[in-house]
Amino acid sequence: MTEPSRTVLVVEDEESYIDALTVGLKREGFRVVAARDGAEGLRLFASTKPDIVLLDLMLPRVSGIDVCRQIRATSRVPIIMLTAKTGELETVVGLEIGADDYITKPYRMRELVARMRAVLRRSPTEVADESGREVLDVGGVRLDAGRHEVTVDGAAVTMPLKEFELLEILLENAGRVLTRDTLIDRIWGPNYVGDTKTLDVHIKRIRSKIESDPANPKRIKTIRGLGYRYENRPHQP
Ligand code: CA
Repeated sequence: MTEPSRTVLVVEDEESYIDALTVGLKREGFRVVAARDGAEGLRLFASTKPDIVLLDLMLPRVSGIDVCRQIRATSRVPIIMLTAKTGELETVVGLEIGADDYITKPYRMRELVARMRAVLRRSPTEVADESGREVLDVGGVRLDAGRHEVTVDGAAVTMPLKEFELLEILLENAGRVLTRDTLIDRIWGPNYVGDTKTLDVHIKRIRSKIESDPANPKRIKTIRGLGYRYENRPHQP
């Protein structure tokens, strides 16, 4: 199977890793662009528009976390964090700042490439409709922000503004855990002081419209103690 070669931006300060990644990823058919610190990473991100980013956590000048945050402010490109650290806290931090996955050094090239292909497959299909507006489509749920329309397997459903905005954020971040705080901030604003149950009520209403069995949701998963994740392949086991 031939596929167009994808550009991967490697942001990594250790030469031995850069060399191994450059050789290994080229062999897998990727085009590799390497940055040696966070600031260069952000510059190259803007100029090369990569299909995926491999981002070391500990970097000179701008940290991997800040690079990730800054990329996420404008882009949904898949990001895999590379780190020597382990532990649940780090994983949560990685997810919180919008990374798609996380791999601990030393890793095996085969495992890294498998994870890269997985996040590339999972990233939401973004298509522009005939008038150039952005349409999100994940597993049969299609959201047209310009027209304020949602369809589920082709059938239109009505959604009030807050539900619509919440679904939009979930779809944009399909495959990624979004924490309760992040969702409340984005939908109700950072100064929201109301009942946090409001979020659950909205999720419940969205589920009643997009899930075939709202009591056993396959699309919007509850991640206990963290938040919610929109599944990108809801019909797979
Ligand atoms: Ca490093």
